[in-house]
Amino acid sequence: MTRGVGVEQVDGVVQRAKSLGFQVQLNLGTDKIVVAILGSNTGQTPTETFAVLPGVESVTRIMKPYKLASREFKAEDTLVTVGGVEIGGKRVVVMAGPCAVESEAQLMKAAKAVKESGAGVLRGGAFKPRTSPFSFQGLEEKGLELLAKARERFGILVVTEVVDPHDVDLVAKSADILQVGARNMQNFALLTNVGKSQRPVVLKRGFSSTITEWLTAADYLLAEGNNQVILCERGIRTFEDSIRFSLDISAIPVVKKFSHLPLIVDPSHAAGHYSLVPAVAKAAVAAGADGLLIEVHPNPKEALVDGLQSLTLSDFARLMEELRLVAKSVGRYI
Ligand code: PEP
Ligand code: MN
Repeated sequence: MTRGVGVEQVDGVVQRAKSLGFQVQLNLGTDKIVVAILGSNTGQTPTETFAVLPGVESVTRIMKPYKLASREFKAEDTLVTVGGVEIGGKRVVVMAGPCAVESEAQLMKAAKAVKESGAGVLRGGAFKPRTSPFSFQGLEEKGLELLAKARERFGILVVTEVVDPHDVDLVAKSADILQVGARNMQNFALLTNVGKSQRPVVLKRGFSSTITEWLTAADYLLAEGNNQVILCERGIRTFEDSIRFSLDISAIPVVKKFSHLPLIVDPSHAAGHYSLVPAVAKAAVAAGADGLLIEVHPNPKEALVDGLQSLTLSDFARLMEELRLVAKSVGRYI
């Protein structure tokens, strides 16, 4: 819309779109208002249908499969604010903690330590999407209770994964940020429910998904009016087998170019080994990641899940010091 248009003119476009059976989303930018007109057959409607309406500056077809996640819809960076912590701003937000919540003692030790080292968010899985049905599946509701307890005791935000579309409300009670895991990136029922929850969400990249597929999955969340979406690159499948997954470092500038959404990086699942995590984490910050998701365990040798890639509390503290220097060199802080 033209800069400074009135409500009636925006409404005129919205009503016209709806009368043609389209859905509408507004971007109320500081500079100007953008109306996204969405539907499976927008291609059959000439742009003049809208270009002639009062207050319309121009009509652009978004030729990419993803619309709401695109810079065409929203040119300015999205800032996700959760409990006073901003993701997508100058601070590189570190989310750290165990892969899975295993016990009260384990979680509290991890929470205290990661908070003291400067993490803004505690991670910990209560529901674990395991490759084998015989592997530890997580403490489930008990795990959520422990996360809520840690959040209360240490005044730290909590991110945890939701696996089942029916558990979104349950998980949202104990978590500040919901995580959609790599295996569920295209679980559209889950995305829709998480979108409806209006909770901040970390959307991990599927390990065999293109960036376009990932951003199009983000549209499922955005389509429900949930714009608190944080993307997470966690490594993809390649022919290389000396590491667990290959971190796609170039996904960082690519996503920044094509999307307005903040992007964090999970070096732990990519590297798969604790000795490789620091280098990958530092590279991600240097390349422009808005945050990191790092697995930390008070006793990795005893971990029920992902012990090999988990940092000890002291290794994490040391890494945070190194990350501060990297962040500073790219004009940011931890
Ligand atoms: C996790 O964060 O513990 C996890 C299961 O990650 P991913 O979905 O990236 O495999
Ligand atoms: Mn894990």
